[in-house]
Amino acid sequence: MYNKFQKHLAQQIEEIKVSGTYKNERILISSQFSQIKINTGKEVLNFCANNYLGLANNKELVEAATECLKERAYGMASVRFICGTSDLHKELEAKIAHFFGTEDTILYAACFDANGGVFEPLLTEEDCIISDALNHASIIDGVRLCKAQRFRYANADMKDLEKQLQEAQKCRFRLIVTDGVFSMDGNVAPLQEILSLAAKYDAMVMVDESHSAGVVGNTGRGVTELHNCRGKVEIITGTLGKAFGGAIGGFTTGKKEIIEMLRQRSRPYLFSNSIPPMVAAAGIRMFEMMDETNQLQDKLHANTDYFITKMKAAGFDIKPTQSAICAVMLYDATLAGKFADRLLEEGIYVIGFSYPVVPKDQARIRVQLSAAHETNQLDKAINAFIKVGKELNILK
Ligand SMILES: *Cc1c(COP(=O)(O)O)cnc(C)c1O
Repeated sequence: MYNKFQKHLAQQIEEIKVSGTYKNERILISSQFSQIKINTGKEVLNFCANNYLGLANNKELVEAATECLKERAYGMASVRFICGTSDLHKELEAKIAHFFGTEDTILYAACFDANGGVFEPLLTEEDCIISDALNHASIIDGVRLCKAQRFRYANADMKDLEKQLQEAQKCRFRLIVTDGVFSMDGNVAPLQEILSLAAKYDAMVMVDESHSAGVVGNTGRGVTELHNCRGKVEIITGTLGKAFGGAIGGFTTGKKEIIEMLRQRSRPYLFSNSIPPMVAAAGIRMFEMMDETNQLQDKLHANTDYFITKMKAAGFDIKPTQSAICAVMLYDATLAGKFADRLLEEGIYVIGFSYPVVPKDQARIRVQLSAAHETNQLDKAINAFIKVGKELNILK
């Protein structure tokens, strides 16, 4: 059997290569930071990590994890409900609820699991999920695992959402689901309008704050802070793998009855290992830091404004963004690939995105800003963009 299957796979992989979407991984041989070393020996400035607050190599977090590693050792070797719950998990869950102004929190191994395990325990075929067309793959998969009816609305399109809500009126319970920040454009979900429509058409709201938590809003509390509706959505999911230290871990936080039901029925929680104590301990320290100071958010917001202002002044076409994601539009796929390659030669690591990750003729370079970036590093990136932009006739 395997001979035939092997040929089948080889053919499919060839097709992926021909279509230009085959992914090669660059190998880092340094820690994750604003400047990284790759295995070619080259040092580059990193503008494509989700390390929004620069916490991936933060000393205090490393210390908290190291201390805990010494005291509580390595792993839990159990799911939460058998013997895998430590006081550190409970403390971290409370810290997350405090951060978002919610009632309770449940931890998962990743946000992919949080989203994969949130719908099925809560909704049945009598109910429906109304999902933004650009929601993250893990939300799409989670919805697939649930028997609820599915409605989809065009990205952040409130007219379309209203239409879907009207069609969904026959359902028992309605849940609107949206990413907080959409990762390709950096646009933020119009949460105020979503909540108004939810009130008008009697629906609940879930927001995935993976790209927005720690980043968006004056104090980084996410899109519910930005849109002045803290505590108003029923469900928030998020990750510890981006702004919050970048290690591993996900969570669902929100109404306490929802969280209680997830602890009873959510399959990625019930049937998967609990996160290592050292990750929980560093997470606790991280949320304490978020309460102590707003310095990292201030620096991130200043860096983002600085970069976008200078890039626009240089003549680049930048998608409107309210996050730390900045899409430099080039439209042409080949051009975007070439541009990113040339930037790497200039010591700037960014990624070009083209179809099918973004719509046809919407190719771009995505830049992710971080509080870890210093002004001279931002300048270096901007100058490299200008140099390559002129070379490739994007700029006059
Ligand atoms: C990154 C991301 C996830 C997955 O988070 P992990 O913790 O890495 O599994 C889920 N949803 C959104 C919107 C994301 O951006």
